[in-house]
Parts: sequence; structure tokens; C-alpha cells
Amino acid sequence: MPVITLEQINLMDLSLEETEQLVDRLGEPRYRAKQIFKWVHQKGVSDFAGMTDLPLGLREKLQAVSSVGLLAISARQQASDGTVKYLFNLTDGDAVESVFLPHDYGNSVCISSQAGCRMGCRFCASTIGGLVRNLTAGEMYAQVMGIAADTGQKIGSVVIMGSGEPMENLSQVLKFISLVTSPHGLNIGSRHITVSTCGVVPGIKQLAREKLQITLSVSLHAPNDEIRDRIMPINKKYPVKVLIEACREYISMTKRRVTFEYALIDNLNDSRENAIELGRLLKGMLCHVNLIPLNHVRERDFRRSRPARVRSFKDTLDRMGVPATVRKEMGADIDAACGQLRRRAAREQVMSGRR
Ligand code: SAH
Repeated sequence: MPVITLEQINLMDLSLEETEQLVDRLGEPRYRAKQIFKWVHQKGVSDFAGMTDLPLGLREKLQAVSSVGLLAISARQQASDGTVKYLFNLTDGDAVESVFLPHDYGNSVCISSQAGCRMGCRFCASTIGGLVRNLTAGEMYAQVMGIAADTGQKIGSVVIMGSGEPMENLSQVLKFISLVTSPHGLNIGSRHITVSTCGVVPGIKQLAREKLQITLSVSLHAPNDEIRDRIMPINKKYPVKVLIEACREYISMTKRRVTFEYALIDNLNDSRENAIELGRLLKGMLCHVNLIPLNHVRERDFRRSRPARVRSFKDTLDRMGVPATVRKEMGADIDAACGQLRRRAAREQVMSGRR
């Protein structure tokens, strides 16, 4: 178990066991940890004075060594369909994006796992400025709590599909999952959590060994190496065959259906031949394909496929018996693509001379 040092601890980063260690070191009875954990991870209270069932002495001790790392909202865009995109300020100056997605079947939150990203996918805005740093589990948690507080809505599911590559920050992502599924926290079921990767094979294998009941989502976007190499640098390291093999291993170890994300890009990966090749690649696998018309990113040349091409791509997969859906587009009238709001904020800062 990691040792807690008593210097400005972010209570949102601590598991229940770590909160117990802290309480021990403060010379307080252990049962206090659960109360503290609930204030922080269930109620999102950051002001120690509001933790009314804790004795004053303990509140003062906590105040001296720790804080609750909620994140301030620096920008907010609401789409006509109810989708809300947030930019949260990190304490060291950068910012991360998160999205609230209301659905009939429950609300979902999409969070970032890193500030920036180093994976270099050619169609993605998050990676343009490179990686700034990994987020801590508490910083991921704070995005969910911030959105819950701002919307006043119950959050039913979490997708780790915002900026960043979760497999490059897996220990904190796993810790976040354990915090968010804790019955003393938000108590979100594992089956309502999705982790999305661009295809970092060792991470997929490590995650498989955890045998969690979460959904693994793999950003495939191409049926072969020739196309995938052109849009996703990670493919040079872990080509399509190796990636699909890792997904098969994941499925056999967890018995969970894998989702493949496929952004349809005009004239690049959206032909009938591409659909047939994808169908052959995935046929018989316990999987589902999410077809997403590409979101145009200002800094990139790629265009989304025309609606007729999207429909016929899906029809081809249907005929081959590979389950596929065209993802309902949400937030179309705001900066919906990954990393666009953060890019806009950076541009506006440059324009106003603040950076
Ligand atoms: N690094 C992880 C998670 C973050 S990206 C991953 O690659 O999966 C989340 C998803 O958005 C990925 O499927 C990514 O490929 C996709 N994406 C990024 N930019 C996009 C764009 N402009 N249009 C559509 N999807 C995009």
C-alpha cells in the first residue's frame, strides 16, 4: 500500500484504504475514513466546515494537510440536444475537456485521462499540442463530480474517451475506476464504464488481466495496415493483426464484448471494399462496431463521409453479420470533436495575449 506523506494531499486521489492510513496518521479512529471518503467522493464537498459529522478537531487537522481537488469550470458550451462540453482548469495551469451526454437511458460523462496526448492520430485535435501530462485518478474523478454538480443530474455511466490515451496512464485509470465504482463513492457499476484506446497492445493485455466488467473500446478506424498507418502512428508499433489478436485475448479472458470505433473519413476508409475487409476481419468476434461520421477539425484536412456512404458501409457490415450502429451524433452545434474546445481556449488566449 502506498505511503501517504502529510503535505497537501488531494483527498479526491485517495482510496478508502489510503484515507484510513491518513486518518491513522492524524491519530483519529479509523471509521472516520469512510465519512471523509463519502463527503469527498459521494457528495463532492470541498469545504471542511461542511463536513458536519466530523469533529472540529479532525476538520482542522484535515484542513492543515489536505484539500479536496474539485476543478473550476473555465468554459462551458451547451448544444441544442442537451450535450454540454466543459473545460476544467487544472491547478498547474493547463485545462482538460469533458462532456455531459444526456440519454433516455441515463446520463453519461466523457472524461479526459491526460492533458494533451502523444499518440498523434492525424484526425484528432487532442494530440496537436502533444502530451502535457498524465491526470491523477482524483483529477479524473473531479471531472465527473464537477459535471454532476453543474448539471444537478445523476450520472449513470462514464466513458474514458476524452483527451489522452488511457493505456499510457493505466495505473491512475484503474484507480479512478475503483474510486468511481466504490459503493461509498458514486457507485457506478463496472458495466457502465468504458475505456477507449487507440490500440496500445500491452495496455489491452494488462487490462485483460484485471478481468474487470468494463467495456473496452478500440479506435480501429481502418480495416488494414495500409490505411491505418496513414492516420494512426500507433499502428506502426502494433499493426492491425497484433491489435485484433490482443482484442481476442481480451474477450476470452473477460468474456466481454469489445467495441470498435470506426470514424468514417471521406474517400479514405469508407468504400464498399473497406467495409468488406472490415467485416472479414471482425466476423465471428464478440464485438460491436460504432460507425462515427468524422468530426471536422479545423487544423486537419479530413472530411466526413457523405450520409449515403455511411449507410451503405453499415449495410455491408449488416449483411456480413457484423453488428454495427451509426453513432447518434450529439453536440453537433458545439466544438464536439475531442480536444476542440481546449484548442479554441488556447487560440483565444494567444489572441488576447494571455499566453
Ligand atoms: N486515446 C483514446 C481515447 C481518446 S480519443 C482512443 O484513441 O481511443 C476518443 C475517440 O475519439 C477515439 O475513438 C478517437 O479516435 C476519436 N476521435 C478523435 N478525433 C476525432 C474526430 N475528429 N472525429 C471523430 N472521432 C474522433
